[in-house]
Amino acid sequence: MVVEPFHVDPTASDRNLVEFIAEQAHRRPDAIAVLGADSAERSQLTYAELMDRAKSISAHLISGGLAPEEAVGVFMRRTPDVVAVLLGILHAGGAYLPLDPEEPAARAARIVQRSGVRVVLCDEEFGSRLSIALEAETSPTEPPRILDVAAIPTRATQTTCAFGIAPGGSRLAYVMYTSGSTGTPKGVEVEHRNVINLLLSACKAFAFTEADRYLAVSTLAFDISVVEVFLPLICGGSLVLGNRRLLLERGAVGRAIRRDSVTVFQTGPSVWSLLLDDVMFPRLRVAISTGEAIAPALADRLSRVGDIVWNLYGPTETTIWCTGHRLDGPGALDGSTSSAAPIGTSWPNMPAIVIGADGLESPTGEGELWVGGLAVTRGYRDAPELTAERFRWSDSMRWYLTGDLVRRQPSGVLSFLGRTDDQVQVHGVRVEPMEVEWALNEEPGIVRAAAAWYEGPGGRGIAA
Ligand code: ADP
Repeated sequence: MVVEPFHVDPTASDRNLVEFIAEQAHRRPDAIAVLGADSAERSQLTYAELMDRAKSISAHLISGGLAPEEAVGVFMRRTPDVVAVLLGILHAGGAYLPLDPEEPAARAARIVQRSGVRVVLCDEEFGSRLSIALEAETSPTEPPRILDVAAIPTRATQTTCAFGIAPGGSRLAYVMYTSGSTGTPKGVEVEHRNVINLLLSACKAFAFTEADRYLAVSTLAFDISVVEVFLPLICGGSLVLGNRRLLLERGAVGRAIRRDSVTVFQTGPSVWSLLLDDVMFPRLRVAISTGEAIAPALADRLSRVGDIVWNLYGPTETTIWCTGHRLDGPGALDGSTSSAAPIGTSWPNMPAIVIGADGLESPTGEGELWVGGLAVTRGYRDAPELTAERFRWSDSMRWYLTGDLVRRQPSGVLSFLGRTDDQVQVHGVRVEPMEVEWALNEEPGIVRAAAAWYEGPGGRGIAA
């Protein structure tokens, strides 16, 4: 289904992301902003409480000397408070750098050292894990200050005004680490305007309103979490904060959707294929598949689970999503390959061009997808050469060279053909086999490692 183009005012993104949420808090202070989906800990925050907490964290960071655009690590359990922590960092003019609590603390410690953050906000448990992991590292850099957020008191403030929020626009909002082909993860630097343009686009694409509830299960260390967390909040809806454990327990996602009246949910195709095996899986208003190619047969099944169903495509370097395809409606699968439903057309202010083997734009042919405009992030943190390899100026616009091969159909819809390099998505997680080889080579007793992906009965895997 080709959707009528929708528009977003590009100047609307020249703000701080938190201003949008502060406006919702001003409008409806007592509405539920965040609801913890963990049945063991059913905590929740209203918009007023969320903003009070965020402002307290912001004030604490500023009094501690936070510099504009300074990256602040976040390594803690997934409770509603972590949302206030992210907002607090942005409110103060800093950029958040999420560390995945489900990954080994040693990886978090390496990212912390590489990124040069001076402060990491933690809870007690993850603070002590990180300290131990940092002690084991043999880097000459000064270790960061580990700050327990429980020790930051919340002061009720004037939630009714947005006064004091740091500038946004082209300021840094977050730094997201993804697998790197040079053996170490690389940090993608994303600005407020990138995120705001994407969120305003998603808001229109999903017809999101304050009545919607978005169930979030993605780790904060993946960029798709940015939509799960901030989209409901900028639109005045509710964020239902679940976690990856929901995906492991049979029927748990469906139960959470029913119990909390969730209307919007996104996940990768491998999870969708398990969820849709459950004939009782509830109907959603909006269902999204993202992170890797979705097979046409699965896309067809998914199209029946929601009123609005999207296949969304995008690398972290182009701010989460830059093209999308509606899977509901007639003709939705035209332009599919044997393994991938189409990735559709560009979202607002994010032009996409196809560059053929001759290095020229190929309007209807096959080639590498380049994405420009407000989707394009700053590049890789402290890696100018790596950035120059993948981010280019052409026709007075900056583009990201995605490394994805596509074909543009006469209708304008893009078909997804695969990668131009070794990078692979394994259950939605981006993996550079070189990073696996590098990690194995560090193990005592291993002389030389090689890693490659394979397609097995349980889906794609990595063999080393
Ligand atoms: P994300 O922003 O989804 O976290 P990553 O940066 O981890 O993305 O991985 C991006 C890569 O994943 C893309 O370059 C592409 O190869 C693949 N990908 C993502 N979404 C899709 C999709 N809907 N269809 C096909 N491939 C996809």
